[in-house]
Amino acid sequence: MTDSEAERAERAAFILSLRRRGIRDLAVLRALEMVPRGLFVDPTLRRHAYEDVALPIACGQTMSQPSLVALMTEALALNAEHTVLEIGTGSGYQAAVLSHLAAQVVTMDRYRALVGEAQTRFQVLGLRNVAAFVGDGTQGLPGRAPYDRIMITAATGEVPRALVDQLKPGGVLIAPIGAPREVQKLRRFIKDGGNLEASDLMDVRFVPLVAGVAALL
Ligand code: SAH
Repeated sequence: MTDSEAERAERAAFILSLRRRGIRDLAVLRALEMVPRGLFVDPTLRRHAYEDVALPIACGQTMSQPSLVALMTEALALNAEHTVLEIGTGSGYQAAVLSHLAAQVVTMDRYRALVGEAQTRFQVLGLRNVAAFVGDGTQGLPGRAPYDRIMITAATGEVPRALVDQLKPGGVLIAPIGAPREVQKLRRFIKDGGNLEASDLMDVRFVPLVAGVAALL
């Protein structure tokens, strides 16, 4: 088998394993199938790219296991007209998955190095509807607001007010809520008037949402 055939077989097995883990939305499964996770992980970890494990990325951060990426994507209930804001670009993997389901994806991270690498990956994959920015996600990105959907991929005690304000009425926001280094609750919020109505999805562990842009890197 050539490398690319081997990788295709690995990715097909990967999609089957996501189905077994309860991901049923075909559009979400297709989006995960279209994004080569191997491109988003450190070369030394590439052999684990299609396993259902979280992996370390640069700047001391972590990318989630694919079944969680799929579950969070499914919970966002995206359509092809939506503009999505992701807080916590990290490797860019989640944003790349979202880009196959939404009209526009805006993603931001407090580390310049992560944003730069993610931008290169989006270019290599020809993803033209993802824009990555360096910035403090607790402030959101008002210039591109309002958003139909917001996904926070770092743990926070509460949803930052700026993000509530930048979400459209009836919009959906997904976030891990709780203390850093503890188990958090993944919550799905729907904006009703100025407030959010919450429902719990599952227990998760995410790296913390840290206010401010990183001084180094
Ligand atoms: N979604 C990513 C993984 C995110 S890890 C992926 O698919 O790979 C969480 C990310 O949130 C880290 O990269 C971290 O730097 C970022 N982060 C933490 N606090 C932030 C803030 N205030 N603004 C923007 N990004 C932040």
